[in-house]
Amino acid sequence: MRFKIEKIKDNTWCILARDTLIPFYKLDENNIVLIDSGSVFFAGELLRFIEENGLHVSGILTSHTHIDHIGAHGLLQNKHHSEIAASFVDSAISSNKNELIDACGYLPMDMRTSMWRTVYFNADAVIMPTDTEVTLCGTKFGVLQLPGHTASHLGFVTPDDVAYLGDAMISHHSKIAYAHNLPSEIATRENILKTDHEIYAFAHKGWCTKEELPEIAELNQKMIDEMMDIFTEIIDHEMGQDEIFLALIAKLGIDAEDPMKMLQSRAYLAGYLSYLVLLGRAKLDFIHGCLRFSPVD
Ligand SMILES: [Zn+2]
Repeated sequence: MRFKIEKIKDNTWCILARDTLIPFYKLDENNIVLIDSGSVFFAGELLRFIEENGLHVSGILTSHTHIDHIGAHGLLQNKHHSEIAASFVDSAISSNKNELIDACGYLPMDMRTSMWRTVYFNADAVIMPTDTEVTLCGTKFGVLQLPGHTASHLGFVTPDDVAYLGDAMISHHSKIAYAHNLPSEIATRENILKTDHEIYAFAHKGWCTKEELPEIAELNQKMIDEMMDIFTEIIDHEMGQDEIFLALIAKLGIDAEDPMKMLQSRAYLAGYLSYLVLLGRAKLDFIHGCLRFSPVD
């Protein structure tokens, strides 16, 4: 894999890796505070890249404990003795092997148990749900409380006024994006638009100015609206989740032979279906112990 380092603004830089942007703040020539540590699937390569570039990870800020965001936390805490900050909930999850293994519940058990070693970490600084800033490695970072993508998802603002939004928004059109709590995600997006920072950076991927942000927010809403329309069209008779899922992947052209894509997409389904029912665009019944979705008359 090819990693690349790019400057965002002043002392705020980033590592670009495949579909992920990992921001970092330079404390000095060598010492950095990383914001998230990328995917567990490239944790070792990321560590090598960081060291080859003469960087030392003094601290890590954690947006949320998905495996494409905390992939190298454990490795870095062991090798660089990085100080780590995470939300109250994510601090609890990350320091408990069983919780971490459960946190990526959509993956097969053998894969989950093999990956926890590079991920597992103990948070040195715990960020509470009302906190608006955190001090790590002697540097103050702004904290943005961004619930929705996960219940305790955080964003961070570097001293250069670069706001990293993690997965609270994505910068490009995606066939299907993870949806945990859509009403909460939508409210968070509205709150982000009320903030005033010079630059906004996205984990997936890139960055924009404050002026460009409303267009990206609109795109995120459009993706949800499109998904709601697709589900409304698919559910034309009483259906179970498997039947809906098969119709969805056919409609979106998702490769049904790719097990990882299938596992991920399947895990995304519940959030969208809950929201569809909440909007009154489908009915949900329990029939013989099974969830059944029907069109609204
Ligand atoms: Zn995520």
